[in-house]
Amino acid sequence: MLIVQKFGGSSVANAERIRNVAGIIAENYSFGHDMVVVLSAQGDTTDELLDKAAELNAAPSQRELDMLLATGEQQSIALMAMCLEAMGLPAVSLTGWQAGIRTNADHGLARIRRVDPERLRRELDKKQIVLVAGFQGVNKFDDYTTLGRGGSDTTAVALAAALHADRCQIFTDVEGVYTADPRKVPGARKLEEITYDEMLELASMGAQVLMNRSVQMAKRYGVELEVLSSLVRAPGTKVKEVTRTMEEMKITGIAKDENVARLTAADVADKPGVAFRLLHTLSKAGVNVDMIIQANGKDGANDISFVVAQDHAGKAYDALMARRDAIGFDHISMDENIAKVSVVGAGMMSSSNIAAEVFEAFSDEHINIQMITTSEIKISCVIDAASADRAVKAIHRRLFETA
Ligand code: ASP
Ligand code: MG
Repeated sequence: MLIVQKFGGSSVANAERIRNVAGIIAENYSFGHDMVVVLSAQGDTTDELLDKAAELNAAPSQRELDMLLATGEQQSIALMAMCLEAMGLPAVSLTGWQAGIRTNADHGLARIRRVDPERLRRELDKKQIVLVAGFQGVNKFDDYTTLGRGGSDTTAVALAAALHADRCQIFTDVEGVYTADPRKVPGARKLEEITYDEMLELASMGAQVLMNRSVQMAKRYGVELEVLSSLVRAPGTKVKEVTRTMEEMKITGIAKDENVARLTAADVADKPGVAFRLLHTLSKAGVNVDMIIQANGKDGANDISFVVAQDHAGKAYDALMARRDAIGFDHISMDENIAKVSVVGAGMMSSSNIAAEVFEAFSDEHINIQMITTSEIKISCVIDAASADRAVKAIHRRLFETA
């Protein structure tokens, strides 16, 4: 069996943690498995490297930043190899380049184009434990690139796909994916399984267990993932296309996102093309728009409200105001004191009363819903930020904690 394992920065933060991870790798190797292990930079190394860069240059070139950041992961793989050597095990560390990870030229947010697995195969044939630096690859100019923050997950999935691995395990500092944030909701339960689509919805809602791009790639290549803790020996959560629980459980998880702001363009002309001009302006400004709601007003004028990431709010406001006359609205109002609460579950597709139950939970708590959007597997509501935790708890109680 060929196993790809990935360990995040906290799992290899210091010598003790590295030894702990080496123990997990050694155990699997002792069962006769072929082992490819992707590592992240230790602890906060990536942030510290960024700080060092900033001390010397406020806007360093992306090429040099990638050259610097790539060193973080290289420390981890070399240290892990040494630790395994000390245990008498054959191990070899490979940079993204040596491991054949070819990316496009987009420094800082590169996409993996392909993996040339010959070197990896050769090392595996020699029964070496292969340690691969996560988060990095090389472009066609043979320059190092990095894949965006949290990119080691993507490295692991890409290698699992290229090598047709039998298993791809993502070790982290949580025990898996939960029905809600277990630090905030005491009744939250660890999920045995979750679908790719549910995971994507929850991840974009701030449940930061896996990098979104890695889940998209896993879905595309049919790589089944398991998310589990490197510190607690317990089964984690499997991420796959179809889950058994889809039938039994109506919903899978509840997440809240506080990094959101609502903008409203007031008195927009009720004419064709207005929504297009508005959204086109935002997309040209690099603003991702999430929920869009048009309220039909009187006298041929509408209000159009939409939700953006909070750090995009200023940019969105400026871009729209700069084209106020061309788009045709009166003014923009902005509210950053909001949160988005989302209920996610593939089981919703076959059960129609989830929405009613969710809204009843809000109603029982006297929480006012400002905006609602739904998809096949998600209901999102915008409410005021101060009520968000209470809302999540109430919905969780209603949908998970009562039989
Ligand atoms: N070290 C990189 C980061 O901190 C990549 C990763 O951890 O996956 O973002
Ligand atoms: Mg990290």
